[in-house]
Amino acid sequence: MNPFFRIEELKSLIQKYTYEYYALDNPSVSDQEFDLLMKELTDLENRYPEFRTPDSPTQRVGGAMLDRFEKVLHSTQMLSLGNVFSDEELRDFDQKIKKEVKTYTYTTELKIDGLSVSLKYNNGNLIQAATRGDGVIGEDITENVKTIHSVPLKIPYLNEIEVRGEIYMSKQAFANANQEKSKLGEEPFKNPRNAAAGSVRQLDPKVVAKRNLDVFVYYLMDRSICDNHYDSLQKLSSWHFSVNPKTKKCNDIEEVIEYVNQISEIRHSLPYEIDGIVIKVNEFALYERIGYTAKYPKWAVAYKFPAEEVKTQIEDIRFQIGRTGVIKPVAELTPVMISGSLVSRATLHNEDFCKDRDIHILDSVIVRKAGEIIPEVLRVVKEDRNGSEIPFKMLTNCPFCNSVLVRKKGEADYFCLNPNCEAKHLEGLIHFASRDAYNIDGLGDRILTELYNDGYVNDIADIFDLGQHYDDLIQKERFGEKSVSNLLEAIENSKKNTLDKLIFGLGIRHVGAKVAKILANHYQSIDDLVKAKSNEMELISDIGPSIAKSVEEYFIKKEHMQIMDRLKDAGCQMTYESTRLDRETPFTGKTIVLTGSLEKYSRTEATKLIEDLGGKASSSVSKNTDFIIAGQEAGSKLEKGLKLGITILSEDDFVKIVSEHF
Ligand code: NAD
Repeated sequence: MNPFFRIEELKSLIQKYTYEYYALDNPSVSDQEFDLLMKELTDLENRYPEFRTPDSPTQRVGGAMLDRFEKVLHSTQMLSLGNVFSDEELRDFDQKIKKEVKTYTYTTELKIDGLSVSLKYNNGNLIQAATRGDGVIGEDITENVKTIHSVPLKIPYLNEIEVRGEIYMSKQAFANANQEKSKLGEEPFKNPRNAAAGSVRQLDPKVVAKRNLDVFVYYLMDRSICDNHYDSLQKLSSWHFSVNPKTKKCNDIEEVIEYVNQISEIRHSLPYEIDGIVIKVNEFALYERIGYTAKYPKWAVAYKFPAEEVKTQIEDIRFQIGRTGVIKPVAELTPVMISGSLVSRATLHNEDFCKDRDIHILDSVIVRKAGEIIPEVLRVVKEDRNGSEIPFKMLTNCPFCNSVLVRKKGEADYFCLNPNCEAKHLEGLIHFASRDAYNIDGLGDRILTELYNDGYVNDIADIFDLGQHYDDLIQKERFGEKSVSNLLEAIENSKKNTLDKLIFGLGIRHVGAKVAKILANHYQSIDDLVKAKSNEMELISDIGPSIAKSVEEYFIKKEHMQIMDRLKDAGCQMTYESTRLDRETPFTGKTIVLTGSLEKYSRTEATKLIEDLGGKASSSVSKNTDFIIAGQEAGSKLEKGLKLGITILSEDDFVKIVSEHF
């Protein structure tokens, strides 16, 4: 692939993952996978510096923030750390330091897997705690941090001072928090880091207090108190901050490597998760000489652990059904510890995946946890076979309703097409109530399964009639008056959800959250959407023929229309307030790329304006681009646009179009 396109592709992928990770605390790929993409982007940009733009994720720290907390401007930027992945890269790091300075030592510390925090003290009192945010601006989380016992509220040092560290959740606290979530029927946290990040950004400090967070500190920002990092940590410890006890002083890089090896051995027995080791030059006097990049100090580096691969056995293969009726094979594994948690199942995706890997029941397999998240089967250890293995065989009938499964041409998945399949129904209900769809607090899969099995909820409209069964429900084991009232309140609140959430929640095949938004924005009411014909829908940008057909087929069904009527009667939001102008503008139906930085608008604001003006904002320039809006320091996108003869608008042109149409 042309490096320019790959760079653009990597940038937009990384941007998406960064948002999920930092703003939503809900990553969809593993950290290792993310680090690999970032490494590929860095390498490509080093080879083709003409394609490096100021908005590249390699040039920026951290990610997006939600508008929930007051913003805090950091006095010194909160930087990230460069990464190394092997002993060899550690030695290269050392060589670079040696080029700058002669005599130095290192401090090695555990890289705690949490989120960084800045703690400010004055007159000995904690006056502010903030997240890193994008490194320049963070979020004020003072009240929440005050609930963390390991953060001293008073210190015996009276001048203004800043201390930085990592907020984390221990493995025990993580297990407790997830137990609590499961009792409430809520989706569990994915890992301790997400749990810590999600907890610290709760609006209610009482909830934070219950989560038992902790902090290890690792920077004393005033370098006049001690002359080296190791001593400054001892000083912090004497002020009753919690400093990690495994911190060590090393005389040279070989000692560092020895430390890395020792910690790699014991990392899973630690009571908290670590994702690497941080190596810092010790002597403060050398820092300015060694210097900084825009993103990290050159006098420190993070050694990241490789993804752990473990051998286990496929004891059996079961089949799961999804809300669309898709049937997925899942390996039941002999339980095995991977990256700190017990793994006993892994998806086998589909028939092709199993055939390509020649998967048999009873095979030994190498399994990896794709980021501390989703376990995946990498390969079969064929040398371990003894003839007793049973080749994988795809089912011919639905394991739940026995109807014949169908694999359509050109697709990898088999589907149960029986509209009355109970298991499929239940998955659809779980999807509807889930966080990204209608987000009904307390209506997780356990509770829904129970309500479904007891006949209270057969379709999504029944959820809104649950109030009629109040007297029955409070008699049920584990329900009780309080939890039923909370549930009914959450259901009531959910009716305010925007129409796109409802459309997504319906579980129409091919209609993900983004497509649902496009449809809601275009039709602005369910009444118009249900009448839409597929050939008309296909004209909407980003709506292809399969989506259009699937939506049309869904609303043709009488039973689905009855549900729409009942949702309407229940008071669910059935119209969509779009800020998009319905009159023609120069941007109507056009694809527009923003490049460089604008003075008047942030990128998010400018993107929204483009969309409101009827245009589509895109991140990469191609022959399909209609306009490029070029701000300050516009780089390669502008060059490319000029080559392709695309109309270039200045910021002033853009401002003029905006002011003429609003
Ligand atoms: P980083 O986590 O690689 O390293 C910097 C951070 O390490 C610091 O900000 C600090 O919070 C932390 N840290 C922990 N112990 C420390 C110590 N002793 N001294 C100094 N710092 C210490 O970099 P980052 O910019 O915070 O995050 C990027 C990482 O986040 C990626 O490498 C990736 O693994 C992960 N990520 C994952 C996804 C995903 O979708 N899975 C998305 C974005 C980022």
